[in-house]
Amino acid sequence: MATYEEREPLSAEEAFDRMMEDCHPKKEEVKYEPLSAEQQEEHNAMVKRCKARYRAKYPEKIAAAAKKYYTENKEIIAIVAKKYRDNMETIDCECGSSFKKSGLTRHLKTIKHKDFLKK
Ligand SMILES: [Zn+2]
Repeated sequence: MATYEEREPLSAEEAFDRMMEDCHPKKEEVKYEPLSAEQQEEHNAMVKRCKARYRAKYPEKIAAAAKKYYTENKEIIAIVAKKYRDNMETIDCECGSSFKKSGLTRHLKTIKHKDFLKK
């Protein structure tokens, strides 16, 4: 069996799939005691307080970690962003243009669309 160091490095696609498996394990593998609604609410509030306290206490640490993450995972982030864009709804405008939903505001300002409205 190959040691950790001897393994072939993963492609960005493989690394992405691996990451998704880690983040979303198959349902039967995760077993939690169900919390009551009240316990769940209490737990969520506690998590929220902890996160707020951490953010207030270590802003530089968070910025540095985010920068490190984006630098190290550039390829994976690009794949996720592309998948997100590809899945996004396409809008066909009356002016004859088509664009992704996220581009609506920008489209409304285009000359083509404005000219169409004037007619
Ligand atoms: Zn338009």
